[in-house]
This record gives sequence, structure tokens and C-alpha cells, in this order.
Amino acid sequence: MAENDLMQGGYSIFHGTMADMTYPEVAKAAADGAVVLWGLGVIEQHGPHLPLATDVYMPAALLRRVKQILEEQGIGAVIMPPFYWGVNHVTGLFPGTFEVRPEIMIEVMVDLIKSLKKDGFSNLFSVSGHGDALHNRTMHTGLKRGGSEAGLNAYFVGAPSFFKRIGVDAADGNVLATASEVDRKSKYFDVHAGEFETSSMWGFYPDLIRKEVLPTLKSTDFTIEDLSEWRKGREEAVRKTPHGYLGDPAASDPKMGAEILLNHAAIVAEAIASKMKSKVRA
Ligand SMILES: [Zn+2]
Repeated sequence: MAENDLMQGGYSIFHGTMADMTYPEVAKAAADGAVVLWGLGVIEQHGPHLPLATDVYMPAALLRRVKQILEEQGIGAVIMPPFYWGVNHVTGLFPGTFEVRPEIMIEVMVDLIKSLKKDGFSNLFSVSGHGDALHNRTMHTGLKRGGSEAGLNAYFVGAPSFFKRIGVDAADGNVLATASEVDRKSKYFDVHAGEFETSSMWGFYPDLIRKEVLPTLKSTDFTIEDLSEWRKGREEAVRKTPHGYLGDPAASDPKMGAEILLNHAAIVAEAIASKMKSKVRA
């Protein structure tokens, strides 16, 4: 199966990205009309069982699969090296969480997007590895400004429910809403380092999971009220989740996690492919 190739090259976040290409290879990809795929995550605490770079590793695996699917459909793609200095409003007080101010993240994004334009690329499709609403609103602003200042089509790809939650209009010109979304059912909220995130990380990066800790982690059983208190962030997040996770990591299953990520990749690839086909028709 093609997806088994995803982790060849080990856990390097540069694997399969432009960072492992040479400059003539990048020039050729741009000349051939390749689209650029970009994952933006953060270095952030993920409980006592997952590494800080979880939100960077996940989009790395996702985009490797998206690239494969696009190429099977004749759409060339390169993966931009991941962005990992983002906004951590909610869990910013935990050790190991790094944070930059939104205005700094926007300026860096604008410069990086101008670099893509200089290389001759025209279409950028970005996904977020991180749930924090302020991070994602900042990412949207960075894509909007970068795209318009560079003169390049820059899209934020995500599910309609996601854009609704972060308060971004899914009809915005820099948004590419997916046609469907991964169905994840859980009794209580499972939004940070819980069953789903742990399962997907385990599916692709098993050596990074502190498996001996998992059975000791009690489900947080959060209601919507608990979740909104947690989302206030900082001291509230530390008080609500002293162990850093929100969900049920002990229920994780690597096989289910791998399936979720591969389904998600198919949904993202489908949105990008139909956008590119609509450009050809236009
Ligand atoms: Zn995460």
C-alpha cells in the first residue's frame, strides 16, 4: 500500500518536503505548476504521553498522503517545510509550550509566502495542526495578507464546522472548505491529546508515545461548560486540565488513528483537486 511509504525517512518533519529537495528540483516543480502544501502547527504541551511537537508531526504525515493522492490524479505538489512557532493562548502556561505573538506569526507568514511567489509558485494550500482558535484566526489573516501582498492564491483548507468554531467565514476567498469531515464520535469532548489525537500519533509515530503512562490517564469527561471554561485559557486551562490533556487518551487505538488520518487526507486532497480542476475549467 502506498500509505506505508509515508513514514519512510523516519520521523523527520523535513521528510518529503521542499527542505529535502535541491533548488533545481524546486525550480522544476514550480515551472511544472506544482501546488504547495503547508502545515502550520505549534510546539505545545500534549499531556504526559505525547511529545510537544504533536501538532507538527500530524500535518507532516497528513500532507505526505495528500501529496500522494494529488499526484495519482496528475496534480503535482510540493510540501513546504512545516511552520511551528505559533499562538498558544490556551495552554501557554504549561512547560514546553512556546509562543509567539499573532502579529509576529503574520509577518513571518507573509515573508514566507513572498518567498514561494519568488520561486514561481501560484497556489498554496494550508492546513492547521493546532486547535487554538486564536492561532487559527491568525493563520487565516497571515494567508490573506501573504496571498494578497505576494500575488498568490493562498487557501486555508478545513471543515466548515472548524471555520464556524474559529469565527472565520467559510465563503471567504482565502478559505477552502472541505465537502465532508472525519466522523469522530465520543461520549465526552476529546479535543486535546485525547483518544483521537493520541490514536493518530500512535498510528504513525509509535516510538514517540509514552505507552506505559496511557493506562494511568483518567478520562476528563468534559461537558460543553467545562470545555468553554478550558478555552478561556491560561490559568483556567491549567485548573481544568492539570495533566494537560482533554479527552480519553487511555482509549487510544493506533489502527483507528491511522484510519482517521488517512480519511482526513482523502477529504483534504479531494477539496484541493476540485479547486484546481475548477481553475483549469475557468
Ligand atoms: Zn494537538
